[in-house]
Amino acid sequence: MNRKESERLYEKAWDLIPGGVNSPVRAFMSVGDTPFYVKRGKGAYLYDVDGNEYLDYVASWGAIILGHADDGLNQEVAAALEDGTSFGACHPLEVEMAEIITGAFSSIEKVRLVSSGTEATMSAIRLARGFTGKSGIIKFRGCYHGHADSLLVKAGSGLATFGTPDSAGILIDLARHTYVADFNHLDSVRSIIRDHNNDIACIIIEPIMGNMGVILPEKAFIEGIQEMCRDREILLICDEVITGFRVTYGGAQHLYNLNPDLTCLGKIIGGGFPIGAFGGKREIMERLAPLGDVYQAGTLSGNPIAVRAGLYVLKYLKEAAPYRLLRERVEFLRGGILEAASRASIPFVINSITAMFTGFFSPDEVNDYETAAHSNRVLYEQFFKAMLEEGIFFAPSPFEAAFITLSHGENELAKTIEACEKVFRKIKV
Ligand SMILES: *Cc1c(COP(=O)(O)O)cnc(C)c1O
Repeated sequence: MNRKESERLYEKAWDLIPGGVNSPVRAFMSVGDTPFYVKRGKGAYLYDVDGNEYLDYVASWGAIILGHADDGLNQEVAAALEDGTSFGACHPLEVEMAEIITGAFSSIEKVRLVSSGTEATMSAIRLARGFTGKSGIIKFRGCYHGHADSLLVKAGSGLATFGTPDSAGILIDLARHTYVADFNHLDSVRSIIRDHNNDIACIIIEPIMGNMGVILPEKAFIEGIQEMCRDREILLICDEVITGFRVTYGGAQHLYNLNPDLTCLGKIIGGGFPIGAFGGKREIMERLAPLGDVYQAGTLSGNPIAVRAGLYVLKYLKEAAPYRLLRERVEFLRGGILEAASRASIPFVINSITAMFTGFFSPDEVNDYETAAHSNRVLYEQFFKAMLEEGIFFAPSPFEAAFITLSHGENELAKTIEACEKVFRKIKV
């Protein structure tokens, strides 16, 4: 595959942009490669500046669900442009968006729009602290909630349950208010709550983990979390930035019967434009300025283009209810890829749910951080590169979800399974 023009651009970008990229995971560094440059996308495919075609399983990290450059969505955006790109004033579509979101999520009574998932989680945490008057937050190892200071925190060493910064520039004094627990291990949450009894403002969780690869919650775990929150006056924040309108209409909380105090949304709800949202119980949300004492704001919040694009997508998802189809397609892929791996004697497992999945090079089930972290990265690197040669783009890191869109039809699935068949035979265990 010729990638000359991409290589030229990357070299130039390397000089001008830190690491050549505007978000670290785009760098292909963790798979020992360099990125291709996308000229355009259509349906399930990306086309790079050298004329190569890639079947896309990154789908803008889950933001795309209809497929790239959807005709209906494009018409909608073109019409929106005619009316202006930003007002910094109220407009009717933001009311409609709030109505759609509160209609889809029974736990959300009021919602506020922001411009990214990071802003949504950052604001939800501030609100939880403001509302409860407590400082501590609990997050889970391997969950990603954007790059706000309180959330870019990893587990402290040894027996310490409080966190340490996961990035230079984050204050230790702040990071120590973030406690890091283990997903699917209720005891780890219990012991943090026991040791820091009255100081936990909230637990923030991806109810279905997408950022360590897909890891499903055990029922007892997720129900236990909900119960602990209720008993202790700890707010439960579901980060559904990925899962929100992907796993079903109404998100993971609908599937697992959760009733969080706050929910964060992003990605899909902007139809590929920058957006985020957080919402929840009325009495909590009413603590936000201008009503209350928790400040939060944004020049481009509720941007009319992003909202109009998002509305188009959400209305489509509501009316067409394509979730069964998306689930069947992922199941079909899962079956075919697992068979191919087994024929090549490759240790491989796949975790999946509607419209998202992750294959781990692992002989054992993957159901928590440890088991995911122990999957084989060297094999993934071989897989990633060989699949890219076959014209199939998976995430350039082993710990990510693969996403399908409504444009991933039978041809695309068959093509993927066929490529896996070929690539698994080439991989050297
Ligand atoms: C992507 C993501 C975020 C951050 O959203 P951005 O729009 O990238 O800031 C937060 N939480 C989860 C679960 C995500 O996957």
